[in-house]
Amino acid sequence: MDYSDALSDTLALLQEIERDWSPATLANAFGPEAMVMTDLIARHGLDIEIFSLDTGRLPEETHALAHSVHRRYGPVITMVSPDAAEVSEFVRENGQNAFYGSVEMREACCGVRKVKPLSRQLEGKRAWIAGLRREQSATRRDLPVSAWDESHGLQKFNPMLDWTKEQVWSYIKDHRVPVNALHSKGYTSIGCAPCTRAISAGEDERAGRWWWEVDTVKECGIHINPLTGKFERTSSGATPEIHTGDSPGHVGDNTDASATTAAPSSTTESATRNSEASPTTPPVTTTPAQPHVAPATEPKNEGKAMRALILGGDGFCGWPTALHLSAQGYEVAIVDNLSRRNIDNELEVSSLTPIRPMGERLRAWKEVSGKDIAFYNFDVAENYHRLLTLINDFKPDAVVHFAEQRAAPYSMKSSFHKRYTVTNNLNATNNVLAAVVESGQDIHVVHLGTMGVYGYGTAGMQIPEGYLKVKVDTGDNGVVEQEILYPANPGSIYHMTKTQDQLLLAYYAKNDQVRATDLHQGIVWGTQTKETKQDERLINRFDYDGDYGTVLNRFLMQAAINYPLTVHGTGGQTRAFIHVQDTVKCIQIAIENPPAKGDRVSVLNQMTETYRVRDLAKMISDRTGVEVKNLPNPRNEADENELHVANDRFLHLGLDPITLSEGLMEEVTEITKKYAARCDLSKIPALSAWNKEHRHEAPPVPEGTRL
Ligand code: SF4
Repeated sequence: MDYSDALSDTLALLQEIERDWSPATLANAFGPEAMVMTDLIARHGLDIEIFSLDTGRLPEETHALAHSVHRRYGPVITMVSPDAAEVSEFVRENGQNAFYGSVEMREACCGVRKVKPLSRQLEGKRAWIAGLRREQSATRRDLPVSAWDESHGLQKFNPMLDWTKEQVWSYIKDHRVPVNALHSKGYTSIGCAPCTRAISAGEDERAGRWWWEVDTVKECGIHINPLTGKFERTSSGATPEIHTGDSPGHVGDNTDASATTAAPSSTTESATRNSEASPTTPPVTTTPAQPHVAPATEPKNEGKAMRALILGGDGFCGWPTALHLSAQGYEVAIVDNLSRRNIDNELEVSSLTPIRPMGERLRAWKEVSGKDIAFYNFDVAENYHRLLTLINDFKPDAVVHFAEQRAAPYSMKSSFHKRYTVTNNLNATNNVLAAVVESGQDIHVVHLGTMGVYGYGTAGMQIPEGYLKVKVDTGDNGVVEQEILYPANPGSIYHMTKTQDQLLLAYYAKNDQVRATDLHQGIVWGTQTKETKQDERLINRFDYDGDYGTVLNRFLMQAAINYPLTVHGTGGQTRAFIHVQDTVKCIQIAIENPPAKGDRVSVLNQMTETYRVRDLAKMISDRTGVEVKNLPNPRNEADENELHVANDRFLHLGLDPITLSEGLMEEVTEITKKYAARCDLSKIPALSAWNKEHRHEAPPVPEGTRL
């Protein structure tokens, strides 16, 4: 079966299981097959539970992978432990490593640590899913895709039976699925640490499991009776048939071996079902190790920190993103030409918060976290070869592209500002994509777009994530269905550049198979993230001025100094919002869920809630007593609009949104009050007009305003 058929069949079966066999559960022992299905379940938002048996003897690398899975997909896997009293009793009677003593002892250990917990976990389910493949071993060759599991009283599915090892690793590579670091050390099937070793050239995939045993079926009883090689309940207490999938391992035997367990060499002596072996020392070897068999294809940087290059890493979203990724264990480098600070000079305004120079920021982060972030000061839109050289040297897994002029009002100030915004933004995006292609590396480009590419009016339906299904009447050939990029409807020059970015991304994804994600972000509110709060020298910028201040932050600033909340027009415009803490989480989720190579651009709506501007103003006015004042709208837009936005993909990928709760708004208010004396009142009004009909004079500073 070819790869695309194998993939579509597996996805179709998982969807059928979700539909017809709920509640269903996937047994994930963190092997490659179960990781593929975990990714499919998360990617397609399938309602299928996932669990893993934590036997208490797993390698450290397996726990590290479990943590990576949690970080990437959210809390999607339930870790199931054996009964502590049963384990304690077993160890008291038989010793810590009784499994080396005899096959019966090994099965008894598996019975307590794996088989029984599995049975408990399957209670109440209608189906369970395993990642077994036929080619893994002779005992798995004749397995059915679906069979009644008599001993647990539910249906068992093996959706990946016909996949080849190469197909499994192709999926993992294409989708950057996290896998156990032990695979790159020659471990093909990974279970408990003391019972797993790397294999040598020419050995069977499961040769590293209970390697001191010979002439036994290398199964723990979860899927196949180790004594008969059939699917029957074993004497250890549980199970019958079929297996599961994780990799070369099974449910309970997670993989990898700890880094300190460096791949044991080959075996030798113990080649018997040995009861002569020391009770504590497995009968391993003295023979020189042969080269390990590595997986057919391994993900880039497997087992190493992910590398992220943050373009525009000094800005409002770029700086907290750089810190967040660094805190999450990424190796981070920033490129920024400090243009945002220079625009402050041009506008004669400053961030309300006292942001520090880049050098001081980075030294503070090193002090606080112990982590280094590299910084390169150049212009991505102009210095193409510096960018290419940096990409070639740094070899990022992902380039996060914030390096654009980001304010709609600034882009509308004058012809100079229009031309600057177009030149800067489009050249920067094209340079990033061209450099990624020229580098020859498989780099995921994550681009910060905006909800504004959709425009703010809809045909009454929910705005989908990037693409729209349409039916075209072709006349004699009937109606043809297509999915197209959602029609662009920019409301400013700035938004127009983001609609052009969409085409650049789509072109490079189609022509050069660049993996690209476009994040259509709502209006960001809030100031601080978990990382920027750790030291005042790390503080994020806070813009309150008429050009760069986002609407909610501007209202909170105004409320803090008793300046009427200025609502433009009727305030009937509905906008999408997201807290800056969620922004940085979304960027990480996006990085860790790249589209497959050759796929179209992955578009995610990066917002968490919508509000009408006047409702926001009223909410803050009710809490603070500061009045609302309507001013002429400098923008050329409808007075009222509805906005319904789909954001299912981030929610399915584990985003737990922060909403506009009172506590969080107070957190922002504290910032505005603390730094109110830094506010220049003359900068609050929004005066950049969309055209001459919308131009108006600055209103005087209202009476009663106090800094
Ligand atoms: S794999 Fe080894 S340690 Fe793990 S449950 Fe089985 S016998 Fe016990």
